[in-house]
Amino acid sequence: MRRTVIAGNWKMNKTNQEAVEMLHQLKEEVAGISEVDIVIGAPFTCLSDAVKETVGSNIKIAAENVYPKSSGAYTGEISPKMLKAIGVEYVILGHSERREYFQESDEFINEKVKAVLAEGMTAILCIGEKLEDREAGKTNMVNETQLRGGLAGITKEEAANIIVAYEPVWAIGTGKTATPELAQETHAEIRKVLVSLFDKVGEEMTIQYGGSMKPENAAELLAQKDIDGGLIGGASLEAKSFAAIVKAGR
Ligand code: PEP
Repeated sequence: MRRTVIAGNWKMNKTNQEAVEMLHQLKEEVAGISEVDIVIGAPFTCLSDAVKETVGSNIKIAAENVYPKSSGAYTGEISPKMLKAIGVEYVILGHSERREYFQESDEFINEKVKAVLAEGMTAILCIGEKLEDREAGKTNMVNETQLRGGLAGITKEEAANIIVAYEPVWAIGTGKTATPELAQETHAEIRKVLVSLFDKVGEEMTIQYGGSMKPENAAELLAQKDIDGGLIGGASLEAKSFAAIVKAGR
């Protein structure tokens, strides 16, 4: 059974105190919801207190990045082992902002996916085309390349701990959302690639949509056959709006 996973991506927002306050409110807003997996991606500085604030609740915590080594001379970096040790369960990888501003390649993202899985955490692998790719008719080719690159060498067993987040870059933070039909069409293509890689496991993998998802459009997007959740930026910063999206996923 595919799990519906609604995940927030706070990006570089919220001090530790703001994070704890928001999570305190969110816990009340989503109390008792068990049909949807609820995840909040928070900056490194908030992770430890975010885990403490949500322990015993239905909210899980994600990091927004990681370095693919377990320890060593990598000044300023954070390892999967460190995240695991404080109770982080998910890691968002390959977000388009990291691909663009930090030149992350599919090969490097693939190393991160493997490192996260090796620690028993779930990887949320982000893929998505830019506007110029879509206009040039390259959407499916770009997504397939990012998928095959990010998932190279992954076994079927490992794939069960991977979520794919399809995020058309032109829809992120722009207020422009893919129509449900357009999103479904692309999700179906992504599904085909996952099935070609992982057989039945590919059928069961959660594919999230991300890109200006908000309370007003979430239900329609989430009703699509191959849209199994959402990765939410802006609308995840506030407890009530994020909770409304979680409820739309039930
Ligand atoms: C994101 O950054 O993953 C995202 C989907 O952002 P937004 O919801 O703000 O478009």
